[in-house]
Amino acid sequence: MTTNEINNIRAEFPILLEKVYNRPLIYFDNAATTQKPKAVLDRIIYGYEHLNANIHRGVHFLSQQATEAHEDARNYIANFINASSSTEIIFTRGTTEAINLVAFSLGEFACQKGDEIVISVMEHHSNIVPWQMLCERKGMKLRIIPMNEKGELQLDEYEKLLNERTKLVSVTHVSNVLGTINPVKEIITKAHSKNIPVLIDGAQAVPHIQVDVQELDADFYVFSGHKVYASTGIGVLFGKREWLEKIPPYQGGGEMIQNVTFERTTYNELPFKFEAGTPDYIGSTALAEALKYVQNIGMEKIANYENELTRYATKRLMEIDGMRIYGTSENKSSVISFLVENIHPYDIGAILDKHGIAVRTGHHCAQPLMDFLKIPGTVRTSFSFYNTKEEIDTFIEALKRVVNMFR
Ligand code: PMP
Repeated sequence: MTTNEINNIRAEFPILLEKVYNRPLIYFDNAATTQKPKAVLDRIIYGYEHLNANIHRGVHFLSQQATEAHEDARNYIANFINASSSTEIIFTRGTTEAINLVAFSLGEFACQKGDEIVISVMEHHSNIVPWQMLCERKGMKLRIIPMNEKGELQLDEYEKLLNERTKLVSVTHVSNVLGTINPVKEIITKAHSKNIPVLIDGAQAVPHIQVDVQELDADFYVFSGHKVYASTGIGVLFGKREWLEKIPPYQGGGEMIQNVTFERTTYNELPFKFEAGTPDYIGSTALAEALKYVQNIGMEKIANYENELTRYATKRLMEIDGMRIYGTSENKSSVISFLVENIHPYDIGAILDKHGIAVRTGHHCAQPLMDFLKIPGTVRTSFSFYNTKEEIDTFIEALKRVVNMFR
């Protein structure tokens, strides 16, 4: 991307003009949540100013308009990830709720005592705890795919974990700590050769990579709106129709029913069977708007530029004595986790903050991965297409000052 293009993009994100402790904000915490472009903010305000009425049940004009906008958004999202039908797109509160939905519904449908779920060592807590809860409920076991020293999953070990008791494989597309882009297509193909379905946690992938759920042949694919420049409280569960039809609903309530008597309830058709209660019908349109925004820039262009930033930051970080980067796969996204010898990550984060630089420190909701690496946590920078090399230079200079202070 040219400097001009980046400057134009930056001008569309109002928050990037904020000052922190009187310094320009440098926002390197994009893996936690992304900032919102004007187009998305405007869409939210437009929705509440012009299109606000509860959807699906109303005969009145405004309700029909709001319903149409919500369902148009669903269609857009289906096309964006190349789902074969918008009925395969379930709106959730985010990745976490989507995984909990599958853990409950698939768990009820397919799982029994002695069965197993396969996850990996680099999962976010939201792709660990729901499966642990299922295992406790049903008397099942979690099996863990290990990784090598670069932070890449060991596929030979993965294959050995698959057996007739495996009811699901659930792995992250991109690690929120290591940045590793996992070979999910290969992971899915191997599971399918044994008739095992696969869920892919796409929370860190959708903002950076063009995802095609049909090409991947994923059974379930989940992501969060707020990590891809949309609002909080909206997310997506893609599920293959054959699975969504078979598994029972997750929550009961309005919208998800066809007919209710005190004796018996019949459930609504897809996708509504999984959408109990009033959905975030403004958030859904904001999500579609955010996806349009990144599509307009171009996913390939975004990936190339973010890779350039990541390579540049990695090179500059290595200038620092005692630097250790966690996650060195060739195939990685714009996340860099690091530690500097003898300096606590929290101290680094707190001092960088005083320079207006937002990074994340700690276990990044991946405590088992920290245990595996035998560290308490890391400092994590995560870049977006609105970040610049100049910001990275400012960050490196500030980091060098922190290191000098502690040495
Ligand atoms: N999975 C991964 C890989 C993540 O990075 C995150 C967010 N940090 C989640 C799941 C959970 O997403 P949310 O909190 O939006 O539900």
